Amino acid sequence: MRHGQIMDWPLSTSSILRRAAKVFPDGTVTAQLPDGRRHRYSYSDALQRAARLAKALQRDLGIKPGDRVATLAWNTHRHFEAYFAITGIGAICHTLNPRYALEQLEYIVDHAGDVAILADSSFVKLVQGISSAGSQLKHIILLTDADGMPPDAPDGAICYERLIAGSADGFDWPELDDQAAAILCYTSGTTGDPKGALSSHRSLVMHALCTIAAAPAHFLEREKILAVVPLFHVNAWGLPFSTPITGTSLVLPGSNLDGKSLFDLMDQEEVTSAWGVPTIWLGLLAEMRQRNRKPKALHQMVVGGAAPPGSLIDAFEADFGIEVTHGWGMTEMGPVGTLNTQSPSKATESKDAYLELKTKQGRPLYGVEMRILDEAGDPLPHDGKNSGELQVRGAAVIKEYYKNAAITEEAFTADGWFKTGDIATIDSAGNMNIVDRAKDMIKSGGEWISSIEVENAAMGHPAIAECCVIGVSHPHWQERPLLLAVLCEGQEVASESIKSLIAERVAKIAIPDEVIFVDGLPHTATGKVSKRHLRETYKDYFLSDR
Ligand code: AMP
Repeated sequence: MRHGQIMDWPLSTSSILRRAAKVFPDGTVTAQLPDGRRHRYSYSDALQRAARLAKALQRDLGIKPGDRVATLAWNTHRHFEAYFAITGIGAICHTLNPRYALEQLEYIVDHAGDVAILADSSFVKLVQGISSAGSQLKHIILLTDADGMPPDAPDGAICYERLIAGSADGFDWPELDDQAAAILCYTSGTTGDPKGALSSHRSLVMHALCTIAAAPAHFLEREKILAVVPLFHVNAWGLPFSTPITGTSLVLPGSNLDGKSLFDLMDQEEVTSAWGVPTIWLGLLAEMRQRNRKPKALHQMVVGGAAPPGSLIDAFEADFGIEVTHGWGMTEMGPVGTLNTQSPSKATESKDAYLELKTKQGRPLYGVEMRILDEAGDPLPHDGKNSGELQVRGAAVIKEYYKNAAITEEAFTADGWFKTGDIATIDSAGNMNIVDRAKDMIKSGGEWISSIEVENAAMGHPAIAECCVIGVSHPHWQERPLLLAVLCEGQEVASESIKSLIAERVAKIAIPDEVIFVDGLPHTATGKVSKRHLRETYKDYFLSDR
């Protein structure tokens, strides 16, 4: 093969911020601080501080290319800087989800082999738990200034502002191979152990460019995007990279994600576009209804990570004039896979048809290929009717899980496609629509719950003969776990006693809202509990008056 005669110019995360600092003097990053103040600075200031951190990580802490450096933090300017500093020296930024239970965090930190952690001081107890479990963590950096250092900080914990103050300005950002690993993010697995998706510099840049190309209206220089979607999971849908590529300003909300706090932040900062999961937008909608207005500059938003109800999309668009883009994706994909950018102008023909189209997950970004297969593994037609397992491949899709050959083996086809575990249709115009989920997981408010893990915890109760946990539609959380239990002959037990046993073994969010006692559970031909059937039977359980 003859190669093209083009320079080898690596796509890297630091190249994004270095350019933004030069060419977008008006682009800003604003962060809500825990004490109510706001931190506001330019991309150029962000680069300067990221450079100081990069230098300190290298010189003072001895972080080397390929080392895993964890973060455990809300969306703040310091977390944003950490993204660029860690990846910019060739180390791997390993984002930890604070909503995981301590045991899961211990497992993840150990599995990843993290050598350092940068954490919000509010997570000091979690950090203590992780670091006292005999982990290999050598450095703990608390993302605060000297005044914010908590009295119970672990011995030897470093103050972030002190660390970067001790580092001089100017940094020679190394030129990295763009296939080098950059960000590691674990996502929940059905069997309980989370699995790691490791992106590269190239995949992050490609993902950002492809997202920009799919939804260009959000990425103008005059736009200001609020990233409610967390930096600790799914790379905040790539926003830390797509916004500085386009000079779009970025607003980071910190830890207060309730409707009122977000409304005030958006209103005062004149946010024009906001990205988050449906549960968050339900809270904002309630606040907007109460105040009878929208945040003043907000005119578009992205909702994804879970299926938004049509009524939510309609309320934002028809009642408040905010154009909604619906997106679907997965941690394993960088994460954005599809965006539904159908414009409300289509609603003039038939509102129902428009909302039906809009609740579909949408068309694949450039750089993403999708196919649906039947149970025999044969491709299904893209007719909007036939549904089958959705498989993907693309420029930002992982080709294996981090250090996990067994899970990798199950998750990929022999011809190299990734099995999403979603069941979908694709219509003739390429719109993908998720109709069910093959994986045994429940997504509640954007966070995963492994039904198997909860079932295992419940089975520890001596009175339970058989049980199953299903995800059931919920008006606020999209889905909540419901436990169906068959009791052993002659046993009687209160649901609270089962719930408190479960509470000892799983994260709080995973405790089923209710326990229903049944005489028996339906089974498939292979003897498994037929969850599809049960999901159908109980689909309106939390929606109806009981
Ligand atoms: P995560 O890796 O945590 O982002 O989860 C990815 C999974 O979330 C997908 O495989 C879907 O099951 C679900 N998901 C994400 N976005 C949507 C959406 N817009 N509609 C329905 N399910 C979604």
